[in-house]
Amino acid sequence: MTNPNFTPAQLIAIRDGLFGTLDSDFNYGMGKPKRQAAIAKWQKATNFDALMQRAKKQEAQQTLNIPAMSALVHPAFIPAGDITTLAKTLNIEPKAFFAPAPVTLTVTCENSGAPYYKNCYTVQGIDVEDLSPAFTEVVEHTIDDALPDGKTGLLIITTLTPDSVEHDFARFDHNTNENCLTGIQCPCCGGTDAFNIDTLGIHADDVDPMMSQSGIMRATSEGELESNVFSAHYTDDGTEDVAGDSEFAPDGEASCCDCGYTRKTSAFYATHPDGWTGE
Ligand SMILES: [Zn+2]
Repeated sequence: MTNPNFTPAQLIAIRDGLFGTLDSDFNYGMGKPKRQAAIAKWQKATNFDALMQRAKKQEAQQTLNIPAMSALVHPAFIPAGDITTLAKTLNIEPKAFFAPAPVTLTVTCENSGAPYYKNCYTVQGIDVEDLSPAFTEVVEHTIDDALPDGKTGLLIITTLTPDSVEHDFARFDHNTNENCLTGIQCPCCGGTDAFNIDTLGIHADDVDPMMSQSGIMRATSEGELESNVFSAHYTDDGTEDVAGDSEFAPDGEASCCDCGYTRKTSAFYATHPDGWTGE
């Protein structure tokens, strides 16, 4: 038996629309496994999983055969967090992005042409809004209006791309911070100078300025001073808001003093080495 070929419209309907609709609207009396079996039978598939596999395979083939556009991007313009996310999705090592051999990302556009919707781009199925603003800007600029609604394009990441082509964008392959802010860079604007970072420690205002470091340590161990979490202003040289030992608060937030972008502090480790050495 040969499988019928899906049209691109069918693929999109199956993947995004149909199952969601069936979940909420269609034949409530029928349990999910039965609904899935019914869909599989309708498309002459052995079972639902086989149908999904077939859809994915065809989608991949279509992507390879007829991309609506393709563009080259140098890895210097992708923040470290996005490289990790995308590598995980592609099931490859992050360092693969830093080889001359290209890593191909699929970009899909939905809703283009509808005046009341903005274009929604996904990269490898990830909404660009879930990726860093800096990379999103590169993606959107690169795609521009070249990708029609429902079509897939290719974003080809390779170090063979001259990185001067994208010189207006923030780059993430080096960072002059080497002390307090090592590796920290704003994933929105690429800024590296100053950040407000949630800190676990003792605020300088809570301590007599005359108190020595050993005095602070003693007072802390005797319970006279207690560490808590507060936002401290940092440059690479350090901070004046903290007395004694401190650390960035686990699960705390940071914000960029250049552009105001605020996220979990972990998202600000955006710089990657020029050629990834791993996490
Ligand atoms: Zn910023």
